[in-house]
Amino acid sequence: MWVAAALAVGGWAASEADRAAARAALVEGVSAIDAPGGGVPGGYILIGDDVIPLAECRNYDGTTAFTAVAAFYGRGRAVLLAHPNFLSQADFLKDTKRLLQNAVSWTAKGKSAPRIAVLRDPTVARTFTALGCTNVTRLAGLVGLDAYDVLALNSIRREEIPAVLAFVEKGGGLVHGSLGWGYMYSNPNACFAESFADNRLMGAFGAIMGSTGVNRMPAGGFTTDFAALCAGTTVDDALARAERGAFGDKAVRRQVVKTLFELANGLPSGVRPDLHARLFALAARPEANAQPSPERPLDAELPLARLAVLLRKNAWLACPEKVWPADPAASVYPGLTRPGTPSVTRMVPVDLAVPRWHSTGVYAPAGQALTVRIDAAAAKLGLKVRVGSTADDLSGLAEWKRFPLVTVTLPLVKSETTFASSFGGLVYVVVPDGCAGATTVELDGGIMAPWFRLGRDTNAEFARQCAETGAPWGEIEGEDFIVTAETVGLRRVADPQWIASFWDRVLKADQELAGWETRRSPERICADVQLTAGWLHSGYPLMSHINAAHFDWAIDQASLAAGDCWGVYHEIGHNHQSRDWTPEGTGEVTVNIFTMYALETVVGADLRDARYPCGAEKARRRVAEWVKRGRRFQDWKNDYFLALEMYLRIKEAYGWDAYKKTFARYRLPGAKHPRADADIWNTFARELSATVEADMAAVLSEWSIPLSDETRSLCAKFPAAKPSLTEGLQTGAPAR
Ligand SMILES: [Zn+2]
Repeated sequence: MWVAAALAVGGWAASEADRAAARAALVEGVSAIDAPGGGVPGGYILIGDDVIPLAECRNYDGTTAFTAVAAFYGRGRAVLLAHPNFLSQADFLKDTKRLLQNAVSWTAKGKSAPRIAVLRDPTVARTFTALGCTNVTRLAGLVGLDAYDVLALNSIRREEIPAVLAFVEKGGGLVHGSLGWGYMYSNPNACFAESFADNRLMGAFGAIMGSTGVNRMPAGGFTTDFAALCAGTTVDDALARAERGAFGDKAVRRQVVKTLFELANGLPSGVRPDLHARLFALAARPEANAQPSPERPLDAELPLARLAVLLRKNAWLACPEKVWPADPAASVYPGLTRPGTPSVTRMVPVDLAVPRWHSTGVYAPAGQALTVRIDAAAAKLGLKVRVGSTADDLSGLAEWKRFPLVTVTLPLVKSETTFASSFGGLVYVVVPDGCAGATTVELDGGIMAPWFRLGRDTNAEFARQCAETGAPWGEIEGEDFIVTAETVGLRRVADPQWIASFWDRVLKADQELAGWETRRSPERICADVQLTAGWLHSGYPLMSHINAAHFDWAIDQASLAAGDCWGVYHEIGHNHQSRDWTPEGTGEVTVNIFTMYALETVVGADLRDARYPCGAEKARRRVAEWVKRGRRFQDWKNDYFLALEMYLRIKEAYGWDAYKKTFARYRLPGAKHPRADADIWNTFARELSATVEADMAAVLSEWSIPLSDETRSLCAKFPAAKPSLTEGLQTGAPAR
């Protein structure tokens, strides 16, 4: 049972007995809830003494948060749920329906047939009707709220918050669903604390939501049956422990650190100023001075330093259009510029027909004002300026080897925009999709960075730029690929022309294999000292890890020529994959058709060499092992390189054209784009059979891939495929 006494007594809204009775009424008949539609809820932290936790959840680090809370507010009442799906989908999981019915009854103070107002969202209106509410009205705005007992909403605009609070204060009921991580997913450059409006509303009731999802693994849903709140769960307790320097044992410490982190991450200015003051006092302590670095990452052992970093990040993101001083952590990444490097004014022509980032050859030093000037026509296009090249925001990670966010993007809506990034970085003009023509952007106040562009610059000119520059980063740009690398690495590049041409050949190969006639824009790769995950990942830019010796293989001619680093061809492949021919379980398989194609056609690699995962001996052993285990489709999917063996044999039998022509068929006008896995497999078998003019359904079936009878009989009209495709499979019957 939940123990009401665990919450501090106080506040103005309700007594401890009132809160215990409220909780009992709300969780009556409810042992657990869950968000429908596979939704991953956020987690609330408790910032008010009066807030009533209803259902508990676990963060991925094992710490506690809450998926449902309630509160008295003035004469009214509120129930908050940590995912919009709770209110927008009527296929209620666990006891969610009962909880919502209790919520309607409790917020309407037991009134029969309460008048429910739903703000905007028709799916929420349908849910309340499904709960049995007979009096549901959808409103376009918050006018005439007095005619209703309960307001239900799934999204709130900042300017609407006073009207909602006034309604509840006068005695109205509120049922609210929202999702912090969902907001951050759509607004990756936003300051979460300042711009996620829902936390301003919920903060008034004593809870705010974090910007990450919780662990929805427990099959039992989110329980309402939890013991006394564990230490460090309320912000008051967490702050008091941090102030005393008594973080407790490992588990309590983790909880305290998590609660403080979410508080600093999500508390909007103006909500509980006393909490802000306490956070800033903690961040001003000497032990909060440590800076992140690869040698001593900031982790749970340095909670105040993490707190200080987070507060600096929030302040910067909340108001990026300002001349910010350099941050002390800028020296670690992206690094500092050479003092005394003269600043320049540079006119940069921008081809508006190409979307995404345009390099400028200018580096904005940390803390140094940069002015961007555009003409009146360009100010209407939705252009942006970006400083910094990495794609990765490390805020959610448990340790930081660098400041978690080091890039900033500002809209270019005025003729002149002046700002300074706390971290500095290469300057880009960001062009949205759908523009045309050209413009010129003037950059004033940055320094020159090494920038090799194929067809424009000579190797000698680039060497001179690298020798003279004071910028820590530069770029080698081809037609289809741009490598962003440290200047220290670029100085070792003897032949940038070779590097740019090499990557262009890789990208052209992938484009050719995918059957794309054009490319949206060049792709990019950028190096970083810490990534959100792994050592390499796909995306824009593709991200790779640099080590302490500043080795960056993306610009290492010897490694590239030798066919090293399967991983990067793999990640570039991800940017060319299509769901059309990638059924569930093959995302890490069909990507490697691209890896193999680039390695073979650009580098001249022997794919059956033992250095590659598709090496002949490894492949033979994989197939034999799989056959011995019963040739199960599930095992085929689980072993990426066994699955790849089938694709490689198809290439060996019919050449790369088997794929080029098959993939191109999906891009013909009127081509089908199957979405269900069964359709994807059947369509692939048919298209591939038509391309190579052989019965590939029979081959896929031998590899235990499930196909429909219709597909098998259609493909059986073609001659039998080459026997090499199924060599070694015949020792057992295919199993499914
Ligand atoms: Zn992958």
